Amino acid sequence: MSAKTAFFFDERCLWHSAGQYALTLPVGGWVQPPAAGGLAESPETKRRLKNLMDISGLTSALEVRSAPLASDEQLLRVHSRAYLARFRELSDAGGGELGDHAPIGPGSYDIARLSAGLAIGAVSAVMNGEVDNAYALSRPPGHHCLPDQAMGFCFLANIAIAIEESRARFGLERVAVLDWDVHHGNGTQEIFYERDDVLTISLHQAGCFPPGYDGLEDRGRGAGEGYNLNNPLPPGAGDEAYRQAMADIALPALERFRPQLILVACGFDANAVDPLARMLLSSSAFSDMTRQVREAAERLCDGRLVMVHEGGYSEAYVPFCGHATIEALSGVTTEVADPLHDFIALQQPKGATAAFFERTIRDMARQTR
Ligand code: ZN
Repeated sequence: MSAKTAFFFDERCLWHSAGQYALTLPVGGWVQPPAAGGLAESPETKRRLKNLMDISGLTSALEVRSAPLASDEQLLRVHSRAYLARFRELSDAGGGELGDHAPIGPGSYDIARLSAGLAIGAVSAVMNGEVDNAYALSRPPGHHCLPDQAMGFCFLANIAIAIEESRARFGLERVAVLDWDVHHGNGTQEIFYERDDVLTISLHQAGCFPPGYDGLEDRGRGAGEGYNLNNPLPPGAGDEAYRQAMADIALPALERFRPQLILVACGFDANAVDPLARMLLSSSAFSDMTRQVREAAERLCDGRLVMVHEGGYSEAYVPFCGHATIEALSGVTTEVADPLHDFIALQQPKGATAAFFERTIRDMARQTR
């Protein structure tokens, strides 16, 4: 069944540029300048996704929109005034390092406000009933950003800002975030850690980023106790492990919480050829997880589902993972076939390795109930 799906996109989000890097390394010392751009968080992964959608005909089946920049009022619900002033000042001065792994360039402040604005626009369109669900191709990403600290390519907490808008403008009392970016959603966790009105669930590669962090024991504090769920998965987990983690951990947690709106922090860096992580997902895993969460949203909250783009650094493969995801979200199918699908299928864990992942997730499901 197809849904009316909005796609929030703005070319200006792809114009955020942080100068010369090789992957995550600033050029200098032993690090040779790359031929072009070079920072892992580049416009190319996103632009190639959008281009593939245009070529396949998927874009024309969606309602494509942009949105206004997030306002000071909207930003101040999550971020401190001092942090926003520091961010704006560095951006106006031409850029530099705003935080840990968080370089910016000229104009990045307004581009980040636009990125948050796309997430707000997506939530508003769904809450107003203008569309059934929505995808926001937000860039820069947001899930590592803390209230007063940029981190991991993230400068504004896009999803947290959109959640606060859904509460302030639409009076929502229970919102859930499912974060399947391969890195831990530490910013979202910290912002809502002591609250019971926002359920945060993160599936991530154990110890990857923030470096060394797993978070299995971190379940929230005070009123928020039990409303934060971390699922650190060992490297190499693969498609079946993610399906199992969704079915045994994430979906039951959503059912218990009964959210009025579900957001997905939709990173594609758990893909099998990503340079910044070591998971083994194919595009099928992303479309299956999207179907699973879409069905949960239809059961729990009239289908109200908003997916917001986070990481994903393989220029060749992110487009196919994103395309499969947005097909599953909208129910629209095209003729696009994933050219790496069989190659990745042959590398999935088997035998004793597969049994190890199954046991690990079963134990985790017991601990997080
Ligand atoms: Zn990531």
